Amino acid sequence: MKESIQGTCGLGALVARTKVFLLDMDGTVYVGDRPIGNMAETLAAVRASGRRVVYCTNNSSRSAASYEQKLRALRLFDARDRVFTSGMAAIALLGERYAGKRAYLVGTDALKAEFAAAGVPLAETEEGADVAVLGYDTSLTYEKLVRINRMLVQGKPYIATHADDVCPAEGVYPPDVGSFIQLLKRSSGREPDVICGKPYTVMGQCLTRLLGVPAANVTMVGDRPYTDIRFGNRNGFSTLLVLSGETRAEQVASLPASDAPTAVAASLNEIAAYL
Ligand SMILES: [Mg+2]
Repeated sequence: MKESIQGTCGLGALVARTKVFLLDMDGTVYVGDRPIGNMAETLAAVRASGRRVVYCTNNSSRSAASYEQKLRALRLFDARDRVFTSGMAAIALLGERYAGKRAYLVGTDALKAEFAAAGVPLAETEEGADVAVLGYDTSLTYEKLVRINRMLVQGKPYIATHADDVCPAEGVYPPDVGSFIQLLKRSSGREPDVICGKPYTVMGQCLTRLLGVPAANVTMVGDRPYTDIRFGNRNGFSTLLVLSGETRAEQVASLPASDAPTAVAASLNEIAAYL
């Protein structure tokens, strides 16, 4: 059997201690609209071995339900699986720290609907809003920027769903929340008080509560060292870097300790041999 290319631990040992696989999506289980190799069969074998599959994404422009739909169409989703987005982590944070407070949310209609369904009171404008929330708003307008900027200058709590600079897509990657954060930093002088998604701990803490298994039995799998792997390392999970997306094999040796994975594999399909 082929061992992992590099990492502190072999793939077999990593799989043996894993009860839950947290999976990034783009570059990890599919690229665009194409599953990577025989991913449907690999994930079926993961479930058959008694392990759980939880998808974990920073993209807060879409709802968990819309991801489920996409994953189902690619035969990558089963009724036992879950999808967790950075938007859901932001909802959990608001519930904990700002219960009952009104949020001004810069986000898509899908994200607004998710917040409303979770009982987060949403303000139409910044007037009367207590907390500013910045999501991946693919319907962003100048008016929304002006409104959230006012709240930041007024010193209101400022939460971002995640901080990726760009979003993986066909062709040129479009600006994501990290780029919006830089714009608002120039105009307001502020950076978010809390960032919820990968690689930060808000999403990790939410997932740990949701999963009910020790962090030592959770493995985060992803293709981006500075979000997926750093996220897993910071939250006490094992980490598996897959080379089916953004990272090339020759880049692995020069990763900083914060982004160094427990194990490396050409793709997630390599775990099938160890299940
Ligand atoms: Mg990815």
